Amino acid sequence: MQVLLDKIVEDSKKLTAKGKVASYIPELSKADASHVGIAIVQTNGKIRCAGDYMTKFTIQSVSKPIVLLQALMDNGEEEVFSRVGMEPTGDPFNSIIRLETFDGSKPLNPMINAGAIAVSSLIKGKDNAERFDRMMTLFKQLSNNPDLTVNEDVFMSEKLTGDRNRAMGYFMKDLGSIRGNVEEVLDLYFRQCSIEVNCMDIANIGAFFANHGRDLVTGEQIVPVRYMNIVKTVMMTCGMYDASGEFAVNVGVPAKSGVGGGIMCAVPNRMGIGTFGPSLDKKGNSIAGLNVLSELSKELQLSIF
Ligand code: GLN
Repeated sequence: MQVLLDKIVEDSKKLTAKGKVASYIPELSKADASHVGIAIVQTNGKIRCAGDYMTKFTIQSVSKPIVLLQALMDNGEEEVFSRVGMEPTGDPFNSIIRLETFDGSKPLNPMINAGAIAVSSLIKGKDNAERFDRMMTLFKQLSNNPDLTVNEDVFMSEKLTGDRNRAMGYFMKDLGSIRGNVEEVLDLYFRQCSIEVNCMDIANIGAFFANHGRDLVTGEQIVPVRYMNIVKTVMMTCGMYDASGEFAVNVGVPAKSGVGGGIMCAVPNRMGIGTFGPSLDKKGNSIAGLNVLSELSKELQLSIF
């Protein structure tokens, strides 16, 4: 297994020259495009790692499934899906166009930016600090890492330049899918995206999904199975944005990517996988991560189909 992982990482490194690190959030452009890493956490507790698996990066959109779990626990399924849909888009992750044209006047799904911003607005708390603390508690629990922190430079960089997200926030307030103060909602969203992780952290989160919401060590059911199933299904159909169909064919497991270069996967009953490679393709997915995962899926027959 170790030999296999080392080889897949090495082969995937060659592909990193074909992509680009995200630069629309200026702070992200500092990443080293040649980095590639993977961590696997099996539901039986076994761990495997290769490449740059300890390198830190910001979680970005990999945060979306976790915040959706929190929103479901805070509000229930009916309320959440009255504000956000559950249909794939076929449009880029930061697209604004369907906000006006999609029937129902709500963002299409919680895995794209618009939908995730609407979901962040549903997190309960007396003020933004408490809302973020509650989110962060869940991130720490699922990643099995009590030391997670926010990268304040990335947070500020995104807050200062995130005008497309800001535009969507105000538009959704007009639609009624966001209530409350838009700037506060955006701060919460930018903050959740700026949590710093490594491959192990997101592999642990993946393992939690693979284990249907039960703590790997204690067996405690932390999130109801129904909510876990909803979020895994939405990851399967929408988690890789407008490349979700191709990913389902090539890898075949629920997954979520982020522009920091991370991809989190859950292989039901078997393992969580975290990959990292900040060189991205045109759709905003990690080029090396996609290659690592499709090779691994072939070798270990990971597809759920
Ligand atoms: N913070 C990023 C944004 O809102 C997240 C996007 C992503 O990872 N695809 O643009």
